[in-house]
Amino acid sequence: MTQLEAVSKGFTTLYGTDPDGVWQSPGRVNLIGEHTDYNDGFVLPLALPHAARVAVSRRDDGILRLHSSWADRVAEVVVADLAPGSVQGWAAYPAAVVWALREAGHAVAGGDVHLDSDVPVGAGLSSSAALECAVALAWNDLYGLGLTHQQIALLAQRAENDFVGVPCGVMDQMASSCCVEGAALFLDTRDLSSRQVPLDLAAEGLVLLVVDTQVKHDLADGAYAERRAGCERAAGLLGLPALRDLPLSGLDAALAQLPEPGLRALTRHVVTENARVEEVVALLDAGRTRQIGPVLTAGHASLRDDFAVSCAETDLVVATANAAGALGARMTGGGFGGSVIVLAEQADADRIAAEVADAFVEQGWQRPRSFAAVPSAGARRLA
Ligand code: ADP
Ligand code: MG
Repeated sequence: MTQLEAVSKGFTTLYGTDPDGVWQSPGRVNLIGEHTDYNDGFVLPLALPHAARVAVSRRDDGILRLHSSWADRVAEVVVADLAPGSVQGWAAYPAAVVWALREAGHAVAGGDVHLDSDVPVGAGLSSSAALECAVALAWNDLYGLGLTHQQIALLAQRAENDFVGVPCGVMDQMASSCCVEGAALFLDTRDLSSRQVPLDLAAEGLVLLVVDTQVKHDLADGAYAERRAGCERAAGLLGLPALRDLPLSGLDAALAQLPEPGLRALTRHVVTENARVEEVVALLDAGRTRQIGPVLTAGHASLRDDFAVSCAETDLVVATANAAGALGARMTGGGFGGSVIVLAEQADADRIAAEVADAFVEQGWQRPRSFAAVPSAGARRLA
């Protein structure tokens, strides 16, 4: 059974009719540009083959029924009653999207939804954005809204920020909605201008491994808010709209103006990270893909030492992979667990993954899961 058949069949079993259509939107990994999106900076994500798929039928009675293949019952809500805080648990994510559409003035009503997703949850691979963008695209098509992929991303971000209550930046939704197969998305999060940067790793004999540590440390949420507030304070003290406005050439002078070591470290990460995104894009444009490896590793060091969002597990993956001959590696996503990306020669990838797994076992930790990231398509209709 294909993934399309699985989600359609799941819908039919549940609701007793065929769905009006099936839509999917992928998870993502970020190649470089971490914690830059809420500083108006640059990011370079690519879509994963893993995606959230939704089978949906339109309902004009204003009722929204929501089911996920891992939920044991169907959640039912009334679209007109949706308000932040009114829906709990996983169903808040799809409900949030319908709420955000309604709030934006679109004439939308209800629907029956069955979700099936193979994006690992809470692994820093954006299972939430995948699910939001799939639902948003389904409503866009079923209600003839004519939204662009960028508008869908912004709407999904608003849904997560204001309804679910997660203060995420715009990268995840833009990646899930706007990526194309065979490319990474070079995105300026200030004005959302973007360019697809071709990335055919297989043709060059390379692999981008994603190592999911399967750990998520509790401090993630608080630490994110703290970092975000610190970046805003640093920009304010420097008289800048955002840290994005500080060029690398002005970094030393700016650091001398900041009173607290903590703010200096945050600023140094954001400014050097934006420069690393531009450097990676330039290397990819020049066909020097192997040379991005050390830039990825430098990005990890900056997240570990300056931004302080790494942890023992992600540090161990990076150190072990690099010692085993990887071209470079870095944690990806918000931090405190989640996933690490490793750029490696095809011939070395399996051995590197095995050495990383052995290093985890030696620590008494659960074996991480690894897979190869192939740049895949963004949100689209499947049937
Ligand atoms: P991630 O890094 O994976 O996006 P988040 O904490 O932002 O982590 O989002 C994970 C949440 O998204 C889950 O707790 C759940 O509420 C929702 N979610 C993701 N995938 C599914 C799914 N297949 N079924 C139901 N809910 C899902
Ligand atoms: Mg998320």
